[in-house]
Amino acid sequence: QPELAGDFGTLMEWADAVRRLKVRANAETPLDCRTARDFGAEGVGLCRTEHMFLEADRVTAVRQMILAEDEAGRRAALEKLLPEQRSDFAEIFEVMAGLPVTVRLLDPPLHEFLPHEEAEFSEVAKAAGVDVDVLKRRAAELHEFNPMLGHRGCRLGVTYPEIYEMQARAIFEAALDVADKSGEAPIPEIMIPLVATKRELELMKAVVDRTAKAVFEERGKTVEYLVGTMIELPRAALRAGEIAEAGEFFSFGTNDLTQTTLGVSRDDAGRFLGSYVEQGIYPKDPFVSIDVEGVGELISLAAERGRATKPNLKLGICGEHGGDPASIAFCESVGLDYVSASPYRVPIARLAAAQAALKSGRKA
Ligand code: PEP
Ligand code: MG
Repeated sequence: QPELAGDFGTLMEWADAVRRLKVRANAETPLDCRTARDFGAEGVGLCRTEHMFLEADRVTAVRQMILAEDEAGRRAALEKLLPEQRSDFAEIFEVMAGLPVTVRLLDPPLHEFLPHEEAEFSEVAKAAGVDVDVLKRRAAELHEFNPMLGHRGCRLGVTYPEIYEMQARAIFEAALDVADKSGEAPIPEIMIPLVATKRELELMKAVVDRTAKAVFEERGKTVEYLVGTMIELPRAALRAGEIAEAGEFFSFGTNDLTQTTLGVSRDDAGRFLGSYVEQGIYPKDPFVSIDVEGVGELISLAAERGRATKPNLKLGICGEHGGDPASIAFCESVGLDYVSASPYRVPIARLAAAQAALKSGRKA
């Protein structure tokens, strides 16, 4: 770890000797993963796959998929995206060899994928072999007034399971390729976003398991994997006891959980939250530091209910709060297994985790 040499490196070693919480990184490119590893990340806690879909050379295929009128149309577009996804994951698995990688299946606010310009519509029309007017009608149908509360996360997987099927296939094929090449099999942890009910997780886990079975049969080999869920809606936190029956891990998505618990838009909060903090309504910006009394109560309750069902349920956090020292202390107090922060915050998180462990009196 060249970046952390010298006295700072020694300090990190001391921190690592006392901390109990593992520290992972939120990373979705091989470069971010490399940086995260150099800073001592012990895995990827959140690989957001929607960013991959926005790359210039595939956005047309993505738009074709979203605007397709039927499953056959979607599958035709997904076919084009599969090789790209496979290499996305293979590159990440190679860099993170031997460490867990949590891959979150697609969770876009749909409007980010819709074409707007005339030229964009024409390009999709050409790729899909359909009329521009058909695409425009479809885009109008897909318009949402409130995309962040709309057709995103697992809701997309429930309505179009073939999207999650393609992603799961890309993950398993990449994992097997990397295992063949390096001899070290990655352990993908496949994460379902924006779950509110146990049934959603069951349905999406069935898609993943079915795909795993198909790929393993085709290749005559298997890899280990886990399926779990984000807890980022209050309903999911409240129903954590039964949701834990359907998954092997929870990761708290405190960005959305803060937005939905406080009823404050994560994108517009800046307009008034400063004045709220000044007037003592919230002690700190709740999008930076966990609102312990509200969001924190939901996390603690979900951790308790989840573990009552499954004592070895793996628990982490992957919202922005995972890199905030005060929030990390809170995560220690409720017994999470890991925090996941942006790559450059990994050293801070390692230190904060050590401080939290010392304060709590828990042993590493
Ligand atoms: C979250 O909601 O906290 C989260 C990590 O997911 P995203 O920020 O991608 O919505
Ligand atoms: Mg989220």
